[in-house]
Amino acid sequence: MLAFIIYGTRGMTSIKSAGSFYCPDCAGDRSYLHKQVRVWFTLYFIPLIPMHTAGEYIECDHCKTGYTPEVLSYDPVEAEQEFQERFYESLVRVMTLLCMADGGVNPVDRQVIRGMMQQIAGDPYDAMLEASEERLVSATPADFVSYLERMTPHLKQEEKATVVQVIWETANSGPLTPRREQMLQKVPEALELSTEDFQEIVSRIG
Ligand SMILES: [Zn+2]
Repeated sequence: MLAFIIYGTRGMTSIKSAGSFYCPDCAGDRSYLHKQVRVWFTLYFIPLIPMHTAGEYIECDHCKTGYTPEVLSYDPVEAEQEFQERFYESLVRVMTLLCMADGGVNPVDRQVIRGMMQQIAGDPYDAMLEASEERLVSATPADFVSYLERMTPHLKQEEKATVVQVIWETANSGPLTPRREQMLQKVPEALELSTEDFQEIVSRIG
């Protein structure tokens, strides 16, 4: 019989701790296991020496989703506020993009943007508007569309309706230029809205 030694490595998962946390996937408080994957040096398939930690994660007991350990400090109320703030900023950006891709924000546009933000967020977002105008000087209709496409996965239906509303109001603040019309036509697809849903939202704007 030829004697030979088989050695190698193997990843083993162990439980570091347990507790309860807010699971973003379940959208509620759940129990979790903090798991650690460690690579072991093996001889004849028997783990002998722990080598290094390959990774660790938090696993929800209920839905089994794995998260990075930062999820333990996730605060749903704070996250909602942060989302809301980012959403308002993106509304300013969307409206500014529409205007900048059509030559710039004229005084009527500015009045509409400030009015919409005052109505939706309770603040005209002047600083954000000014900063967006400076940053978006070379914006094109394609930039407008790709920005909407990037937003879409993060938006619920009612937020999409708000996006449609601010775009609609801005586009129709003055005579509808061919460029604005062209951008307007791309909105339903970019927001993944059916023609019916889009028309329904627009009919509610009045
Ligand atoms: Zn869960």
